[in-house]
Amino acid sequence: MPAGYQAHLMIADIQPPMSFGDLEVDLRSGILKGIKVRQMHCVSFGRRLMNPGVLMIHFTAGPGTARRSIEAMNDRHVSAHLVLDREGAIWQGVPLTRIAYHAGKGAWGGYQNNMNDHSIGIEICNLGPMWRTKQQQLVDSYGLERTDRASIAMPHRNARALDLKKLIGEAAYKKIVDKGVESPDLANCEWEVFPEEQQRALQRLCSLLVTRYPSIRSIIGHDDYAPDRKIDPGPALRLEKLLSWMPQARTIIYQDDPRRGGYMTTMDTPDYLRNSFTSRTFAAGNIGRDIG
Ligand SMILES: [Zn+2]
Repeated sequence: MPAGYQAHLMIADIQPPMSFGDLEVDLRSGILKGIKVRQMHCVSFGRRLMNPGVLMIHFTAGPGTARRSIEAMNDRHVSAHLVLDREGAIWQGVPLTRIAYHAGKGAWGGYQNNMNDHSIGIEICNLGPMWRTKQQQLVDSYGLERTDRASIAMPHRNARALDLKKLIGEAAYKKIVDKGVESPDLANCEWEVFPEEQQRALQRLCSLLVTRYPSIRSIIGHDDYAPDRKIDPGPALRLEKLLSWMPQARTIIYQDDPRRGGYMTTMDTPDYLRNSFTSRTFAAGNIGRDIG
């Protein structure tokens, strides 16, 4: 472990394994089944997805429904395997036997600009960051006022390294400022809360996928892979909590990484533990515009 890290280890198998309810996946077709599963296929997808190693979590950076997000992805020739509604419905855009276009360029673990070929992409309907005006009005990353969203104030862990203007575009940035937010950034912002139903759906889904696809070894955020241009799924989604109830998850390391300006989690098992646990470990770590 690099010097300067404050880390502690948590044995995460104290909770009973999360059930995945009536969710199931047909491994031959890659089609998800369940009462709250909807099929609406993305037009853009690639060749066969073989032995996915990563679940990549995104947010849509939009106010709308999963249906609207899939339409928006189709307009931009990108895609995701699954899109989670705020109500907990799971929309499938791409069969899990096919490559979806959700990750773009980046690097993480041994992967370099090839994450789409090795991952399942899960989008979560969520607005992402918002800012509070002097009149206590919330403004989203498009510069639109939001009165109907529960939010939580938290800095993004990469806030200091990220240029918000570049991330959301000059026009949107100017709109936010014009609404009365003084120098908006990602250190002083609020994030749309992920509703309980949606988080439960994500838990069930991840639990199912890591169980049915033994090749999956990691669950990461888009911002783990492309930290210089992506902020999703953001700090309101506690990935490390998600991991703590994963079946077969045994170790989670929480680290305070000074280079990244704050809290992060990692799925790497330290060498001295590698042989102590038999199973895989899970580490914590697009739609809308480029931030999703
Ligand atoms: Zn993303």
